[in-house]
Amino acid sequence: MFTLGVDIGSTASKAVIVKNGKEIISKEIIHVGAGTSGPVRVTNDILNKSNLKLTEISNIVVTGYGRKNYIFSKNQISELSCHTKGVHYIFPDVHTIIDIGGQDAKVIKVNKDGKMSNFVMNDKCAAGTGRFLEVMAKILEVDINNFGEIGILSENPCEISSTCTVFAESEVISRLSNNTSIKDIIAGINKSVAVRVGTLAKRNGLENTVVMTGGVAQNTGVVKYMEKELKTSIKTSPIAQFTGALGAALYAWEELNIGGKNNER
Ligand code: ADP
Repeated sequence: MFTLGVDIGSTASKAVIVKNGKEIISKEIIHVGAGTSGPVRVTNDILNKSNLKLTEISNIVVTGYGRKNYIFSKNQISELSCHTKGVHYIFPDVHTIIDIGGQDAKVIKVNKDGKMSNFVMNDKCAAGTGRFLEVMAKILEVDINNFGEIGILSENPCEISSTCTVFAESEVISRLSNNTSIKDIIAGINKSVAVRVGTLAKRNGLENTVVMTGGVAQNTGVVKYMEKELKTSIKTSPIAQFTGALGAALYAWEELNIGGKNNER
């Protein structure tokens, strides 16, 4: 039996199909999110790629910022629950999840049963989110996908002191005109995100194992500076951007209640 999880974020739509609640058989991403064609396209793409029809999917759960307008399912579960579920599937020893997405950052505490025990969130300010990184990438004319590997080459990250995205933008432009190297600027930008979200994480009390998830977990520079900020090693997965969709697909399986097992959200 196949279940589908869809995570409609602010910047990307992600989908995962799971077989019998155990095996990830495919994943798909469209780089536009809520309010766009992304959710429909990602659903069609993953079905095509998996050679499955919608009628062959036993249950669908939708999560993420744009979940309310998803046309293929009204079965919604919060991002916090889905991320926790997806990360716990990959890293059963997780106790702290740092999820940095396009428009917010969340730090989730996970108990020994793999359930969320509390969380803190920054959704008031773009600094400390993927959006901040995207704005900076645009000014620097560098592909966001290369932000990690370029920044990591720097031994001298420049200081980005503004905590506001608009002022930080001016700061980056002035660094550019002073001929600061691109790698030092990128490292400084990555570091500023890590310090901001790291402060949030410390406020929530940190417990190992720490896992970073969300699209920004693919930025190795942010992960490196986060490790320094938190003075601990951090685990990431190659499918970090899909953990919400994965958790949704796993919940979809649990809802089928095969074998009579009752499951909590
Ligand atoms: P949302 O769920 O809000 O759409 P995601 O968790 O999908 O957000 O993360 C989107 C963010 O991830 C982007 O804003 C970008 O900063 C970052 N990102 C995505 N892919 C990469 C990558 N390959 N390398 C570095 N950063 C990335």
